[in-house]
Order: sequence, then structure tokens, then C-alpha cells
Amino acid sequence: MAKVKPEFRVYNSMTKQKEVFKSMVEGKVGMYICGVTAYDLSHIGHARAYVAFDVLYRFLKYLGYEVVYVRNFTDVDDKIIKRANEVGKDSTELSRSFCIEFQNDMNDLQCLVPTHQPRVTDHMEQIKEMIVQIIDNGCAYVVEGDVYFSVDKSPNYGILSGRKLEDNRAGERVAVDDRKRNPADFALWKSAKPGEPFWDSPWGPGRPGWHIECSAMSAHYLTPTFDIHGGGMDLIFPHHENEIAQSCAACSESRINYWMHNGFVTANDEKMSKSLGNFFTIREATKRYHPLALRHFLLGTHYRSPVNYSISQIEISSESVFYIYQTLHDCEVALSGFEESASESGKKIRISPAAQESINKLRDEFEAKLSDDLHTPTVLNSSLQEALRFMNTCMNTLKVTGVDFFTTV
Ligand SMILES: [Zn+2]
Repeated sequence: MAKVKPEFRVYNSMTKQKEVFKSMVEGKVGMYICGVTAYDLSHIGHARAYVAFDVLYRFLKYLGYEVVYVRNFTDVDDKIIKRANEVGKDSTELSRSFCIEFQNDMNDLQCLVPTHQPRVTDHMEQIKEMIVQIIDNGCAYVVEGDVYFSVDKSPNYGILSGRKLEDNRAGERVAVDDRKRNPADFALWKSAKPGEPFWDSPWGPGRPGWHIECSAMSAHYLTPTFDIHGGGMDLIFPHHENEIAQSCAACSESRINYWMHNGFVTANDEKMSKSLGNFFTIREATKRYHPLALRHFLLGTHYRSPVNYSISQIEISSESVFYIYQTLHDCEVALSGFEESASESGKKIRISPAAQESINKLRDEFEAKLSDDLHTPTVLNSSLQEALRFMNTCMNTLKVTGVDFFTTV
């Protein structure tokens, strides 16, 4: 009889607690992870987020779910336009080239390819349709070709981040735009400015604000109601808060059951950022080390905890990855001798009870720990180490005594 797998529990940023995961449709999961704004090579913080959600994607598949995984590309944005103007390139063209670089990094890190990787510039119709719905439902207004979302029309604004509208006003550092009805209102559509790419719309030429793309593209690929929405912790406010407000304003049925967020990457215990000069691209790390060393390093910390990027830690991960593959290689060599002699004598190889026990233990611990909100560090640093030690002990015994963890019958 097949062993029953443990219940999968995930930390939900909405309810601030671990919950048993239950998909809306039995056996199927829809998940949307906010992707990169493609204007430069991706950094270690990106690697962290997408490796963490790759583990989630793989584990859901391991549990038997059919998963539709959507991860977008932001290919129109202030930063992209600025960079394109600096280098004298078309912004969409510039962005597409960095999307390819990002996909190369993800391949190196052995992240599975999502089911859909939509780009904003390919979904203008869906975005405009959603803005029309929000305006029709009385939750947005047009000012001189710009469209703003009216936060006062969103009764649950702050539900994810816990922020109150008054807090936002108090913390404001930017000049108040007096065309907004409430300083916290945010742009759904920005009217075209000279030198910027634009698309026609009912409100005149322009381009979408940042937040609306994820609401429109998630609804397009997964319907307005789906299971998991994720991204970095820095996206909780304002990005995800605004997404909830927009999606609910466009469609009252909109619901996401689990919000999942990964922690920051720090360098020398300070938040990694360009301005502090402690900023590393994925490419810099993978030039020096095997990409799996970076993946191993990132998964050595629980995805919600901060992780401190340090060369010495990557060195340790690099050695660990080498040890894993060396052990597997040695095992294959040791086994091949057995396979040969077994086939010559017409016998079958049977795994010894001690080896079977070790395999079962590793699988049970893997399932238990991954089911506990994807607790990868214990699996990598303890369970897997124990199994590797067992394999090496067996191989040493084989060398010394000829007695083995495999027997023939
Ligand atoms: Zn997003």
C-alpha cells in the first residue's frame, strides 16, 4: 500500500501563519510569481526568489499536482526606458535581450521553465480591459490621460501588508501630486511623455502602471481566483497590496488563497543593493562556481529567512555539491561491477535491508521537511549528509571486505 504523504503546510503572508495547503480544484494548482523587470543582468536576490519558488513548483509536482506556473516579465517600465535611452536602443528590444539573459541564468540554476512567461507588451489588451472594468466599477478616475486607482474605494486596502492609509500619508517622502484624490492613489495608466514608448488607449496614448500587469496577466492565465501568489518580501507593499485592490475592484470574485514571500539577500550583513556597492549578479557567481553551488548555498537557508551572501559560504556549498556528485559517481562505479557479474550469472541485484532503510529514511525526512513550509536546510545539511555518509561507509566496507550493501539473488 502506498504510504500517505504528510500534509503540506505553507506560511501564508495573508494570515501570518502556517496553513495546510488545499488546492481550489482537486489535483490542480495555479501559481503566479512576480518576475523580473528586465533592464540588466539579474542579481543574487533574483536567484534566491526563483530558486525558492522552483522548489515549491517541483514539490507540488512531486505531491502529484498538475501545476500551472506563471512568471511574468516586466518589459515596459521607467528603469527600462531610462537604460534604453542611455544606450540608444529601443526599450522593448533592450528588455527582450535581458529576458533571454535571465532565462539563461535560470537554466544554469536548474530552475524548471514555468508554464507561461508572459510579457507586458504582449498583453496590452488584457491590461486595458481590466482598467476599463475598474473605472466602470467606480474605483478609478482619469486625469489628463492618466488613470489612477482610488484607494478610498477599496475597503480592504492594507489587508496584506497591515498598513493603514494614514501611515502611508505620514511616511510620504515624495511631493504630493494634487491631481490625485488621495495621495496613496496609484497609476493604472500613465500618459505618454516624449521619448517614451506608448500604446493607444481609451484615455489617450500611454503605458500601464507597474501593478496592473500582474493582476491582468494572472487573471488571463489563471482566472481571477487561484491558489498561490508569490514574490520577494519587498513586494508585499505596495505591489501586492495594490494588486489585491485592483483585482477585487475589477472582479468581486477575485481571490488568492496563499500569499508566499521569500526573504532578502544581504551581503556582509547589509541589504544587497546597487547604491551600497555590495551588489552581485548571478553571472558573477556562476563564473567562479558551478551554478549548483549557488543553488545549494541559497537552499541552505529557509526561504523566508534572510540569507547573507558570502564567498566563504559559497565555497562550502561548492565542496558539498562536489561531495554529493563524487559519492554518486563512486556508487555508480561500484555498482557497475555488480551489474556485470549479476548479468553474467543470470541473477538479479537486490538492495540490502540496511540500504533500503537508509533510502526510506531520506525519503521520509525529505517529505516531512519539505511539507513543513519547504524546509530545505534540514534536508540538505542533515538528512542528505547522513545518506551520503552511509553510502561512503558501504563503499569503504566493500573495498576492505568485499561485503556490500547490495546482494545478488
Ligand atoms: Zn507582480
